[in-house]
Amino acid sequence: MNMLQNDKFVKYLQNLFPNAVCELNFNSTFELLVAVILSAQCTDKRVNIVTNELFKKYNTPNAFANLKQEELEQMIHSCGFYRNKAKNIISASKDIIEKHNGEVPSDYEKLLSLAGVGRKTANVVSSNAFGANCIAVDTHVLRVSNRLGFTKSQNPNICERDLVLRFKSDLGVLHHRMVLFGRYYCKAQKPECETCKLKDNCLHYKKILKGK
Ligand code: SF4
Repeated sequence: MNMLQNDKFVKYLQNLFPNAVCELNFNSTFELLVAVILSAQCTDKRVNIVTNELFKKYNTPNAFANLKQEELEQMIHSCGFYRNKAKNIISASKDIIEKHNGEVPSDYEKLLSLAGVGRKTANVVSSNAFGANCIAVDTHVLRVSNRLGFTKSQNPNICERDLVLRFKSDLGVLHHRMVLFGRYYCKAQKPECETCKLKDNCLHYKKILKGK
């Protein structure tokens, strides 16, 4: 099996998703941060439904810092893990006010220090709000990367490192395209392998063929 060339992969995804952008709705960096925290283990579609109402009432660090946790929990309930998410959003809002002059910090380490912000969240915020060249590894990016041999690890941090070393530039848009590819084509169950133009270079497809 030939190793998949970076160019072939990047161009294929570019053709499939020429206009790939972040599917979360937001009007400020702070709204983006809240939306990304809410999106853990939840679909972007559901988050957009919730934030559509939530941001009409509250959309600044001050507004969230003064909210009662129970009140926020009720509004974000359908996103799942609502207790932790509410706690983290309120705590991050307080930190933003007290330690960062009311602005979401663009400095990566400072962003990571906020409650509820891991590398995935920090990378989504950094690339979408601050134009940083970084790639967030979610479940789709991790699956696609393993199937195509870009990484041998199920650890998102190691996968992130492997993708950065391999693709080097335009990582933000690559992230959006890999998420869409994983969501609609290279699905966890029943991926669309027969029509996939990467199948000659795909470890997962090779395994499927062997099993037939
Ligand atoms: S051949 Fe199948 S498993 Fe491999 S990248 Fe394409 S859709 Fe995914």
